Amino acid sequence: MSLIVVGSMAFDAIETPFGKSDKIIGGAGTYIAWCASNFTPVKQISVVGGDFPQSELDALAARGVDLEAVEIKKDEKTFFWSGRYHMDMNTRDTLDTQLNVLADFKPVVPESYQGSEFLMLGNLAPAVQRSVIEQLKVRPKLIVMDTMNFWMEIALDDLLATIKLVDVLMVNDSEARQLTGEYSLVKAAAKIRTMGPKYVIIKKGEHGALLFYNESIFVAPALPLEEVFDPTGAGDTFAGGFIAHLAKTNDISFANMKRAIIMGSAMASFCVEKFGTQRLVELTKTDIAERLHQFVQLSTFDIDIEK
Ligand code: AMP
Repeated sequence: MSLIVVGSMAFDAIETPFGKSDKIIGGAGTYIAWCASNFTPVKQISVVGGDFPQSELDALAARGVDLEAVEIKKDEKTFFWSGRYHMDMNTRDTLDTQLNVLADFKPVVPESYQGSEFLMLGNLAPAVQRSVIEQLKVRPKLIVMDTMNFWMEIALDDLLATIKLVDVLMVNDSEARQLTGEYSLVKAAAKIRTMGPKYVIIKKGEHGALLFYNESIFVAPALPLEEVFDPTGAGDTFAGGFIAHLAKTNDISFANMKRAIIMGSAMASFCVEKFGTQRLVELTKTDIAERLHQFVQLSTFDIDIEK
């Protein structure tokens, strides 16, 4: 099944309590594409400046990422983001956001992308995310949206208008609280479901993720790792694993969404092992299969409830 991915492609500069990166390749769309292309072809929509390395675009193309709708603005600069993680590696401060090419990005959905069944709206201005939905002649079978606190602060009305149109909203725990004013994540998810999405996923970093649908809640663990090197992109990688599993299996039942969030968690657990996209770039099918096996072991148990 075909999958469209929309999201930033960027340069990032990251500081953790254990190290600091130079300007490296990042961006929500980049992480999603590296991850999702393990499972299914990707039709990418994004924008970069003339300073973005052609070698990175070539590497993505070689993995089956269609770049027809990745605009290159030769005389402008790529989006830049810089962040610093706190000691717990679950929370971070944004140090700098330079929108550059993203400031006036107006994506054009090419004819060859029409008819795609799955749409992943990675982190980007909500009006831009919405314009992609509006350009699609046939509504995809499933629209999944990720966002972040930045857009809640500067574009709340646009954000709410876009949230209304999607099937699945994924946010992290602090964003769910910020968006709804509810401390309880159960109440926050219920409130988000009144805003439009039937499904809500709340990511909790090293504590896993929650999937809410009607009265049901499913909990996916995160893999307890000895070392987390760089959490940047973990949420996007999670999103890539989630939607790519659904697209590959062409099954959007709740039962399959549970498998998809485990796939997202497994893929995110790789992302944090090295700086930037480095770990995702070198992943093999065997690595993924072994990690999924670890996830099954993590949460399988027997209990005799009658005793
Ligand atoms: P995550 O760690 O999954 O939340 O995503 C981190 C990625 O999001 C980084 O690679 C950044 O380049 C990208 N990013 C940060 N802020 C924004 C923003 N305002 N719009 C789009 N992408 C962003």
